[in-house]
This record gives sequence, C-alpha cells and structure tokens, in this order.
Amino acid sequence: MGGTCLNVGCIPTKVLLHAAEALTEAKHMDNLGIQVSVNGIDWKAVQSRKEAVTNQLVSGVTGLMKANKIRVIEGTASFASKTALEVVKKDGTKENVPFDKVILATGSVPAVPPIPGVKENAACVDSTGALAFDHVPETLLVIGGGVIGMELATAYSRFGAKVTVVEAMPKLLPMMDGELTAMLRKRWKLPV
Ligand SMILES: Cc1cc2nc3c(=O)[nH]c(=O)nc-3n(C[C@H](O)[C@H](O)[C@H](O)COP(=O)(O)OP(=O)(O)OC[C@H]3O[C@@H](n4cnc5c(N)ncnc54)[C@H](O)[C@@H]3O)c2cc1C
Repeated sequence: MGGTCLNVGCIPTKVLLHAAEALTEAKHMDNLGIQVSVNGIDWKAVQSRKEAVTNQLVSGVTGLMKANKIRVIEGTASFASKTALEVVKKDGTKENVPFDKVILATGSVPAVPPIPGVKENAACVDSTGALAFDHVPETLLVIGGGVIGMELATAYSRFGAKVTVVEAMPKLLPMMDGELTAMLRKRWKLPV
C-alpha cells in the first residue's frame, strides 16, 4: 500500500535527505560554538530507519483502509471482461472482481532512456536502486538534473560521495523556475 511515494519515492528520499542534512549540520556545529565530533555514518542504520519510517506510513494507510471498510486485495489485476477484473493474488489463486466503473491508478514505471550501453551496465540504477545502495558509493554520476536527480545528488554528496550531475537542458531543475536553479547552484557552492 502507498504506491511509489511511500515505498520508493517521496518518503524514503526525504528520510535520506533528512539524515544527510543532519550530518552536514553536525559537521558545522562549530559555527554555533558547539563542539561535535562526527565519527562517520552507520549506513545500515540509515537504511533501517528509512525502512522503519516507510513501514510505519504504509501501515497507517493500511489502517485507514480498514477504518473506512475498504477491501484491499493483494495481487495483480488484469481485465477479464468489460465488467470484471481478474486478480492474481500473492498466493497464486485468482479472484474475479466485478465492477460498474474502474479508476486506473497504476502509476508509472521508470523510462529507460535511449542511452547506448545503459541496459547492459550493472552500475546503472534507477531511483529505486539508488535509495537502497548497500554502501555510499565513492563516486556517483547522476544523469538528469531534475527534482529526483538533484535530491539524490544532494543526499549522496552530503553522505560523502563525489557526485557529478549531467543535465542536457540549459539549467538544472529544467521544469522549475530559474530562481530555484539559482538558489540550488548557490547552495551547492557552500561547503557540505
Ligand atoms: C524517488 C522519487 C521521489 C519522489 N518524490 C516526490 C516528492 O517529494 N513529492 C511528490 O509530490 N512526488 C514525488 N514523487 C512522485 C510520486 O511518488 C508519484 O507522483 C506518485 O507516487 C504517483 O502516484 P500514483 O498513485 O499515480 O502511482 P503509484 O504511486 O505508482 O501507485 C500505483 C500503484 O499501482 C500498483 N499497480 C500497478 N499496476 C497494477 C496492477 N496491474 N494490479 C495491481 N496493482 C497495480 C503499483 O504497484 C503501485 O503500488 C517521487 C517519485 C520518485 C520515484
């Protein structure tokens, strides 16, 4: 439950960004006259916290479904006819579910860009893969300086990776106001 946002999108990204921001703040506490020594990152603990926050929110949504008496079937839907779905459940059994109207809210999947070599290269991951690295990579190349690319670039740079962003458009965050790009550039020049 919770789709991309809760499981592999907004929420896990924000958990990583929060940890990365806290790390940066801790490193610069001396600006406030507070002496803090940072002994490194327990990456396993960062990942576990990400899972815990996600699971908590997912169970919240599951609870809301129950509280509102909405039936949830865990399985994959396909159309059996114009008035019924066939759902293949997790245990392999099938259920026919009749309907009057259907809302398709199946989300999207990451598009694989037509970059030669991308499919064959095991080092290439999408955002879901990048949220679950088993360690902070030494170097990270982010292709695409949109919102998701910049969030991941910021988090991993703060965690200590040497990050490079490649963007084809004239500015980072190409779909957003130029003022935001300027702010982002300015912040990236600050020590992290
Ligand atoms: C890394 C990342 C960070 C993001 N950060 C933000 C953010 O900060 N703010 C923001 O607003 N948005 C953010 N987004 C975008 C946001 O997650 C999506 O816009 C949102 O999840 C789309 O919701 P949805 O309900 O349309 O689809 P989804 O959340 O993808 O939900 C669709 C669901 O349908 C299920 N499904 C698909 N096919 C079937 C089938 N045949 N049978 C049964 N179930 C099926 C899928 O398993 C999935 O659970 C982010 C996305 C990513 C990847």
